Amino acid sequence: MLNDDTAIGMPVGRAIAHFAFEPVFDDFGDVAGVLIGIRSLAPSESTFERFSSIVNAGVVVMDGNITLSSGGLPAFDFHATVKLADDELISASGGSRVGRCAAHELGLLVCAHVEASQVQEAQHQMLRVSDRQAGTLFTWFLVLAAGSLGILVSVVLVAVRRVTRGLPQLATAAASVARGDLDVPFRAIGVGEVRSLGQAFEVMLANLRESLGQTRKLAFFDPVTGLPNRAKLRIDGMEALTSGKSDVVFLFIDLDRFKSINDTFGHKTGDMLLGALAQRLVDFFDSRVRSNVIGPFRIGRLGGDEFLVILDVVAAETLLKSLVEDLIGRLREIFAIGSAYMTVGASVGIAIAGRDGRSYDDLLISADVAMYEAKRSGRNSYAFFTADAAALMQERLTIEHELRIALSNRTLSVLYQPLFSLRDERIVGAEALVRWRHPTLGDIPPGKFIGVAEDAGLISDLGQYVLEQAVTETAALVRESGDLRIAVNVSVLQLEDPTFSNRIDACLAKADFPLDRLEIEITESVAMRESIVIQNQIVNLRRAGVHFSLDDFGTGYSNLSMLARLPVDTLKIDRSLIAGIHRSSEQQAIVRTILALSQSLGFQSVVEGVEVSEELDFVTAAGADIAQGFLFSRPVSFDMLKAMQNTRAMRRAIRRLDTTYGKGDEPVTGDNPSRRSRTAT
Ligand code: C2E
Ligand code: CA
Ligand code: CA
Repeated sequence: MLNDDTAIGMPVGRAIAHFAFEPVFDDFGDVAGVLIGIRSLAPSESTFERFSSIVNAGVVVMDGNITLSSGGLPAFDFHATVKLADDELISASGGSRVGRCAAHELGLLVCAHVEASQVQEAQHQMLRVSDRQAGTLFTWFLVLAAGSLGILVSVVLVAVRRVTRGLPQLATAAASVARGDLDVPFRAIGVGEVRSLGQAFEVMLANLRESLGQTRKLAFFDPVTGLPNRAKLRIDGMEALTSGKSDVVFLFIDLDRFKSINDTFGHKTGDMLLGALAQRLVDFFDSRVRSNVIGPFRIGRLGGDEFLVILDVVAAETLLKSLVEDLIGRLREIFAIGSAYMTVGASVGIAIAGRDGRSYDDLLISADVAMYEAKRSGRNSYAFFTADAAALMQERLTIEHELRIALSNRTLSVLYQPLFSLRDERIVGAEALVRWRHPTLGDIPPGKFIGVAEDAGLISDLGQYVLEQAVTETAALVRESGDLRIAVNVSVLQLEDPTFSNRIDACLAKADFPLDRLEIEITESVAMRESIVIQNQIVNLRRAGVHFSLDDFGTGYSNLSMLARLPVDTLKIDRSLIAGIHRSSEQQAIVRTILALSQSLGFQSVVEGVEVSEELDFVTAAGADIAQGFLFSRPVSFDMLKAMQNTRAMRRAIRRLDTTYGKGDEPVTGDNPSRRSRTAT
């Protein structure tokens, strides 16, 4: 029995007729609590009273020496019992009663008793006859009394069982629940308190089932789209693969430009768009199931703007292609979210079970690799997994790994490519360009690792590293020279960090580098971003004197009417527009227009990638302010930059002398053709 009944709020002294005890464990196997079922007996139980009145006998339930409950005749005085025979017939209360007891659960004793006077008559007869007869009669009496009282006791036992009916079933159910089986069927039965207990258990079980359902939902479903999450997809995917009924195809869907939607409209709208897109995905595949193009499908959100669709059976590859083309077309259609209209695109990677992997994890990687390949080939496209794409991915992973090491060992270096003023033939600045010489892989060009650094979240560290290196190395030179400016390339991911402008401030202050000699090169997509964070950073830095230039201008799709409002001081015309410009009237027309526009909007213009003198001739004539390119100089070490700067300064000084005294080179003014070939040396 329970040591401390008060612990469960039971009145002291109330005894227990049936008791069930089950520990309950949580998910980690720790005891979370216990489940206790108790039927206590009142000193007087109506069931016993009724029974007594029917059979005209007393009933008593005892625990050791204590009388727990009784009914009918005054309580049986157990202590004074005298055993009358081996079959447990007993007399008590100084012989005025006879009774019989039977053991019940938990050490309880259930007894039935009658007044001895009821059997007085038999006793008298017994005395009157001879000893032999008396002996026989007495034996008969004993047999009869024992028999009838035995029946009585059995009936009492049944009554007690009835009172405690439902408890064993409750105990079994509790044991199942404790083992974690919440699906155990249970309905409250029994009477009185046991029934109430059963009903309470029923409610508890329903609550448990509901909260478990919610926990499962949280663990397996994405709250934004309502679709299965990564964990659930994995279970579903493995199920699809092991069912072995058909061919399984993985479609890895990654949205294009989702980030800019988040930036432009905010995360709440972004989430709503994801929800609408998820619904569109489900509808699309549902309709294809209905028209028997595909078998059953499973879909879920892997995270961010990535979704996975697992298709059962798509027989022909051509069918798969047209399915995915339709899908991409459908996803490109306009979404109306609230009062805003927006579009996103999607890149889809396709992996086929068996061919591109057998396990769920392998297929997911293959589909991811294929998606990456699709992204590389342009947005709104799809790609099948190929071994080449996998090798490329492997290379990227190697680069990522090695880049982390290079960054922490600070083994990257910076070169400077001079910027020449076409107005007065001087070095007016230099662009800092990161260089990576790997101990075994050799020189790795930025084109191979900048993208990886962006994807792997390393670009901020890399950018900060280049900035620190550049301003520290060039600070003295910059302070000495009149207007030399150092340009650094800054990725959009760096500008998204709200601490970026403060970090620039701190870095420049530490190196004693003047703010107005720093030029930050951003790309068109960054300048056009409507992100508040980015705009604030640019505004803050420009206010502090930092210059901004628009890198690779002419490669994007900028709206010319937006140009005037762009937060930059300089346009750097991309080298793809300069290469071979002297042979292409189309390029000439474009560059002339850009330069004219740039001038009238008050931007400074830089032409990139000037490699031959004919290109220089054209851009000079067209009015470009500054040129950068192999014709002048490749990116060089800081020492070389310094030497070049001095040489140029010296030359300029000499040239001025020459001009003044009428010797040698012509003065550097106007659109003088001879000037260009000289600059190119
Ligand atoms: P970018 O900003 O357009 O840099 C100019 C690139 O053009 C440099 O390539 C430079 O070496 C190359 N270049 C300069 N003149 C000529 C020329 O006359 N002909 C040809 N064919 N190329 C020329 P690089 O150093 O390989 O850099 C490639 C790109 O990597 C850069 O393009 C820039 O976008 C990125 N990058 C380089 N360093 C950094 C950095 O520190 N941070 C970030 N975020 N990006 C960087
Ligand atoms: Ca640049
Ligand atoms: Ca550029």
